[in-house]
Amino acid sequence: MNDDSDCLKQLNPEQRKAVVHKDGPLLILAGAGSGKTSTMTHRIAYLIRQQGVSPHEILAVTFTNKAAGEMRERVEALIGDTQGMWILTFHSACLRILRMYADRLGYGRDFVVYDPADQKTVIKNCMKEKGINDKKYQPAYFLSIISDCKEKGKSPAEFAEESNAGPRDKMAADIYSAYEKVLKANKAMDFDDLLLQTVRLFQQEKDVLQRFRQRFRYIMADEYQDTNYMQYRFLRMLAEGHNNICVVGDDDQCIYQWRGADINNILDFEKDFKGTKVIKLERNYRSDGNILAAAHAVIKNNFGRKPKKLWTDKAEGEKVRYFRAEDDKDEARYIAAQVDRLCNGSRQYSDFAVLYRTNVQSRQFEEAFRFRGIPYRVLGGYRYYDRKEVKDMVAYMRLVQNSADDLSLERIINEPKRGIGEKTLEKLKVLANFRKEPLFELIRNTDILEGVSGKAGESLFEMAEIISKLSEEKDNLRISDIYDGLLVRTGYLKSLEEQNTVEAESRIENLLEFKSVIYDYEKEKEDAGEFGSLSEFMESIALMAEIDNLDPEENAVVMMTLHSAKGLEFPVVFIAGMEDGLFPGWRSFERSDGIEEERRLCYVGMTRAKERLFLTGAAVRTIYGKTDYTRESMFLREIDGKLLEGDAVFMGRGFDRYSHIKTGSYEDENTIYRPFEQMRPTRRESAANSGLSSEDLAPGDRVEHSKFGAGNVITVEKNTATVIFDSVGTKKLAIDIAPLRKLQETENNGR
Ligand code: ATP
Ligand code: MG
Repeated sequence: MNDDSDCLKQLNPEQRKAVVHKDGPLLILAGAGSGKTSTMTHRIAYLIRQQGVSPHEILAVTFTNKAAGEMRERVEALIGDTQGMWILTFHSACLRILRMYADRLGYGRDFVVYDPADQKTVIKNCMKEKGINDKKYQPAYFLSIISDCKEKGKSPAEFAEESNAGPRDKMAADIYSAYEKVLKANKAMDFDDLLLQTVRLFQQEKDVLQRFRQRFRYIMADEYQDTNYMQYRFLRMLAEGHNNICVVGDDDQCIYQWRGADINNILDFEKDFKGTKVIKLERNYRSDGNILAAAHAVIKNNFGRKPKKLWTDKAEGEKVRYFRAEDDKDEARYIAAQVDRLCNGSRQYSDFAVLYRTNVQSRQFEEAFRFRGIPYRVLGGYRYYDRKEVKDMVAYMRLVQNSADDLSLERIINEPKRGIGEKTLEKLKVLANFRKEPLFELIRNTDILEGVSGKAGESLFEMAEIISKLSEEKDNLRISDIYDGLLVRTGYLKSLEEQNTVEAESRIENLLEFKSVIYDYEKEKEDAGEFGSLSEFMESIALMAEIDNLDPEENAVVMMTLHSAKGLEFPVVFIAGMEDGLFPGWRSFERSDGIEEERRLCYVGMTRAKERLFLTGAAVRTIYGKTDYTRESMFLREIDGKLLEGDAVFMGRGFDRYSHIKTGSYEDENTIYRPFEQMRPTRRESAANSGLSSEDLAPGDRVEHSKFGAGNVITVEKNTATVIFDSVGTKKLAIDIAPLRKLQETENNGR
């Protein structure tokens, strides 16, 4: 940027006003794609090149590393370099400040930063010291309480004194306080501390605050609508005095209230900073007309919003395309087919983004993209088969298939926690080596287990029993029954449930989703008239899990949650899973502002699209291990039909409405409507083990087995029943684990 005009030329008059505004508070409150971030980066450039501001005087903060990186690039593009400026995330700005002054807080400048795994270890030790049962309470439970307190600046004492604090909270406060002592003694901070301690530093050490106030004479914050209390305090303290603070944001895009973001920070900005100049940007430069109109049609239904409407002089462009697939697999295939089709034209893979509400949805897309050979990247979140809990369950299933798989046993020997430490494991390994036996043989050997301290030895033996039994019966069990058996009987599921944290909950969701993978496999086999075997299934899983990590620079379709797409833009956007219960999610119906926050998220998603927006859903979805008919998302109903093409939208209530819904053919842009085929029946829930014992069965009983169907009991001996099945002939079954159900006389109409 060489002169005034170069920089300002590209801007509209309102943006220009914001860019040349030098001193005093400035609020840019504007809708999506109106150039807020661009205006901010232009302002930084202008301050430096035209207003004589030194780069050292600039502090610009945002939320994610990706967003901060992009901001730096945009400034660089304008003025060549960003040396001396602080264009950072909140966390990294605080870390830098603390590295200079943490000694004032008694930490030493070389304090370490603990990640969540370290935090859990500390909490675990505190629990041990206080004699808190680690079977009943999980470290993660305390961790989430501590983090929540720190975000709000609550001390352990304040937390314990809260009016509704029960004995459980008092115990948590106790742990919190012990945890703080350990961190302090170890000269360590956690992520939440970075903000909290910086604010404390500013409060206590006036000269430090003064120093930074003098240094950062121009402060900027992007996505201000998503700041939480500590981030707000941080900015407010720094800006006091000179008041040269410029924040940009959009109240319609506040999507982190569930994590403590306070929308009032932006709504009250004018009150907090007297003499604020407010600039509203109303022109959207990102999206074609129809996309923008559709996004507005959705967001305008929120009650708690300041009315505003964006305009564009771009052409209407293509209509928003809606596709209601038969099921979630079909939805993924449709999206992959569209990517392929559009890529035949002039588009690149990196022009496309697939956005979804929850990470578990990515699995179907991964499969469909892989099938078509479309390169993709999953942002944030892990690839499905990389997730710890999925890997753990795969290890258990491998052991059922092959108990000599030491690597798998090592992986899960202490998952869930059985009190097996590194040392015990090491000893067992040495012994196994010496005896030339697989590890698994050792944990079935009671003599050897006696050497392993009481409880731990017992639980190992129990686990070995479960695995051996399932292994003996594996040919008589459906894969999903084996999976259920492992999940429940090994205590894996229970241990997650007991943690009672968001993280554990999402792990449980992933595990239930894994059941959908198994159902799909079984269904495919059933359709081909076969029973899927465990070993074949494990092979297919292994193939999925071994796709190499993709190169981030590669020309690839990106997939991510709607939350992580904030601030980004793409030529073509797919928003998948447009169904009530998924998006908006059922949980949002429970909170008063829940639906409104989901609607803002929908608005964020839709406004990422520049030229093409696809909304998709599935009439039947298998998610978290359950198959259900779905209802089209309420957000679809809010969009004017004129802006949409594709399926008819929301045809009324009740199941029968599906009889007249038509589904588009996805290979073809000019949809040929084909009648919606007969709905697939809901897949049967797993029968698992029905709790029968040998006393419950007698020769002559009519029974139903989840894999083999109906049959007659011939003999019952101890735990083994011999049954002649109508379809597969005679089988010997272990009564306590077979998915057997006794049929009543009335159900007995086969004879
Ligand atoms: P979001 O709310 O999604 O964060 P935003 O308001 O920050 O959006 P930007 O990302 O800054 O919007 O800009 C959106 C797009 O519009 C970008 O591609 C940008 O280059 C373009 N743009 C912004 N201002 C102008 C302008 N005056 N003329 C042409 N293009 C513009
Ligand atoms: Mg932006």
